[in-house]
Amino acid sequence: MATRRVEHLIVGAGTAGAAAARTLRDAGADVLLVGRELDPPYHRPPISKGLLAGTESRESTFFDGLEGVELLTRTSVMALDTAARTATLQSKDEIEYGSALLATGAMVRRLNLDGSQLDGIHYLRALGNAESLRRDAESAERVVCVGGSYIGCEVAATLTALGKRCTIVMLEAEPLERGFGARAGRWFRGLLESHGVEFVEESSVNGFAGSERVESVLLDDGRSLPADLVVIGAGVLPDVMLARKSGLEIGDLGGVRCDATLRTSAEGVYAAGDVCEYASPVHDGRHVRIEHEDHAERQGETAARNMLGAGEEHRAVPYFFSDLADWASLEYVGGSAEWDSERVEGSMEDGRFSVWYLEGDRVRGVLDVNGHGDLARGREALAAV
Ligand SMILES: Cc1cc2nc3c(=O)[nH]c(=O)nc-3n(C[C@H](O)[C@H](O)[C@H](O)COP(=O)(O)OP(=O)(O)OC[C@H]3O[C@@H](n4cnc5c(N)ncnc54)[C@H](O)[C@@H]3O)c2cc1C
Repeated sequence: MATRRVEHLIVGAGTAGAAAARTLRDAGADVLLVGRELDPPYHRPPISKGLLAGTESRESTFFDGLEGVELLTRTSVMALDTAARTATLQSKDEIEYGSALLATGAMVRRLNLDGSQLDGIHYLRALGNAESLRRDAESAERVVCVGGSYIGCEVAATLTALGKRCTIVMLEAEPLERGFGARAGRWFRGLLESHGVEFVEESSVNGFAGSERVESVLLDDGRSLPADLVVIGAGVLPDVMLARKSGLEIGDLGGVRCDATLRTSAEGVYAAGDVCEYASPVHDGRHVRIEHEDHAERQGETAARNMLGAGEEHRAVPYFFSDLADWASLEYVGGSAEWDSERVEGSMEDGRFSVWYLEGDRVRGVLDVNGHGDLARGREALAAV
């Protein structure tokens, strides 16, 4: 067992971890970035879009600007002793740190149902998942996407554009309605249907049938949908395994509980990205946990500055983007699941519009479809708290 000392230790070499490492490196600080994946840090959004479609290469997903950052891949951090400020790596090596960042991200929520182990059933989180789904999709004809949120809709769009017949099975009445409401959801459904995607709404999956490979998806109402490929997008769970083991406070939303400066309950330990549940100044101080790429990057940067002693609140307005093949692009600022009225600007019929989500007269979020152009105004309204 070897012991060494670093000024700043980052656990998790995803978006938040990479952004934090870059910021610390730019400040001339000594930083060690430790991740358990085989690959260097990469962007996940292409996994359900360009990488799956075959229009983007694996290398194009890699993070830029990490030159000079010491990176350990294929290495898990097994334990943090927050009192002694030490971390134990899988190799049993011990790292003494001055400050640490937990950027451990999230894990897919797996469905533990009859037939879940059959071939042809996929989840998407890591680069390798997109590659194996793409290979498997080559000979597939009928795809069922489980879940009507981003992953289900994006994958259905990408695979339909590749000539597959896709059905989305979802608990909701309309796709994407949890984030954007029923009105925008109906618009996205119309768009997907116009390209041939089919929907089975307000239904849950009971299991999968087949001998070795999946042949059908079984629904709770007794129906069975033929499928030779299944992609499950049933949400993610924050990866708090290490945090819990290290005695850090876990929040009501299941993430690592942080204050507005992204500081956890332990001295010198911060969190950022999908795992971070923070008291958000742009949400009136409520604790929120957000699963978006840009948000993870911005939080990584804020956390890094605070590891250097800035003591800064994370005030960036959360931003999200998504593409449904080349049929539509959407952007969103806000990140609040609560609103009581909606205002549409532009034309839903023409496919360029925005939806403003309001609570009283307060703007809580803005969805911009196909570049309607309202994001900057939305961001200003959201930041004015
Ligand atoms: C298929 C897909 C498509 C997406 N599309 C979009 C999109 O279009 N727009 C958008 O805004 N967002 C999108 N997202 C979400 C976005 O990618 C995430 O919000 C973002 O990756 C979160 O970054 P993170 O650094 O918090 O976590 P991650 O990127 O998950 O990184 C966490 C890393 O920590 C590692 N780790 C965990 N525990 C340990 C440990 N103990 N030791 C060492 N390493 C550890 C994990 O292996 C992982 O590599 C998408 C996500 C997926 C999966």
